[in-house]
Amino acid sequence: MTDPGHGAALLEDLCAWQRPLRAQFPIITGNSELVYLDSAATSQKPQAVLDAVQTYLTTTNANAGRGTYPWANATTALVERTRDRIKGFLGDPDTAHSGVHFTSGTTAGLRAIALDWLPALLSDGDEIVVPFADHQANLSPWLEAQQLLARQGVRIRVREMPYQASSGDYDPAALAGLIGPRTAFVAVTHVHHVYGGNMNVHRIRQAVGPQVPICLDAAQSVGHLPVSMADLDVDFVVFSGHKALALPGSGAMWARQTRGPEFTPGGWHGSPDTTGIVSLAAALDWLDAAGTERIERWTVALAARLSDGLRHLDAYEILGCQHSLASDALVQQRSGIVTFRHRGIGASDLGFILFSHGFMVRTDGHCQASAGEKTSSVRVSLHVYNTPEEIDRLLAVLATLG
Ligand code: PMP
Repeated sequence: MTDPGHGAALLEDLCAWQRPLRAQFPIITGNSELVYLDSAATSQKPQAVLDAVQTYLTTTNANAGRGTYPWANATTALVERTRDRIKGFLGDPDTAHSGVHFTSGTTAGLRAIALDWLPALLSDGDEIVVPFADHQANLSPWLEAQQLLARQGVRIRVREMPYQASSGDYDPAALAGLIGPRTAFVAVTHVHHVYGGNMNVHRIRQAVGPQVPICLDAAQSVGHLPVSMADLDVDFVVFSGHKALALPGSGAMWARQTRGPEFTPGGWHGSPDTTGIVSLAAALDWLDAAGTERIERWTVALAARLSDGLRHLDAYEILGCQHSLASDALVQQRSGIVTFRHRGIGASDLGFILFSHGFMVRTDGHCQASAGEKTSSVRVSLHVYNTPEEIDRLLAVLATLG
């Protein structure tokens, strides 16, 4: 049953909250003829994040963990405070038994776990379960670890995470069937970067049992929706600061350190990306003040408005899970990502056409891993600065191409 009034009311309720937040993004307000719809690739930055970086660079810029003079001490303190800030943001229920490591993004965090931590966990004949239809960043590091171990004579079996064909969600019952005494590690993704599905990862712990470490790729959830370690019994959370309103090249990994060996980054680590870390702390403050729960409701409602509009246009096929503002639809199971194809126009041509109208979207295979889509598509991904008017304008342009 469709109830267009329901979604419109949801967005209307949040309008007064969203308008002043959008006004805090200079790149958005300074380019009113353009519409940025590629936040899953990277997000725009609010003024508060830009200010925090400027203040840091013009007051106490120094290296961290090295000098003993006041600017160096201040920088070291900023880095340490940001570790605590990240634990707080993630609702870490046991901060005495967790650690935070700074990375350049999700890919770097997942590779560090795969290459610096996983080999010490695994013995000959062990099995790991990893996703073959999510982002490439959450597959290739695990395969690299398998090859690394094979060169040392340790054979690891890599099993494919099962998916439900109908929804694109994981299949916890099938997963439970894969788990055996040799299952040593499971990798999952919180929100799918192409299909936009919230992968219901809270059900994964039950399926795999209490002992097996779980690694969560939270690239599309941190900064977009509440992510709470109290609710998700996982052992690693990896995310990209740059997708969560912080500077490009920033990211972090949270490690619980109670299942398996403690995570310690391999090798000597050079100077940290202090401006990235400062920007990350400012971004998390901004997100907390704005409210990730409301950001989620806003972006999900916008995505559902787009999906409902596309469903009336025969020329388009939506990939993966279906958003809807219909009153009986579980919109909270979705994220602010919608991916679609035109049945007659190639994705890159469609991207060019859309940009000629000012819309910036992603058009290609979206770095999906080996079991992903074989044909490229158009992805629209939303954040707090997007508006219902932008979606309506996009739908009006798409309708002319039918
Ligand atoms: N995982 C997912 C689910 C992603 O969407 C992305 C980025 N598109 C990544 C990993 C990789 O993130 P980064 O490029 O910041 O390393």
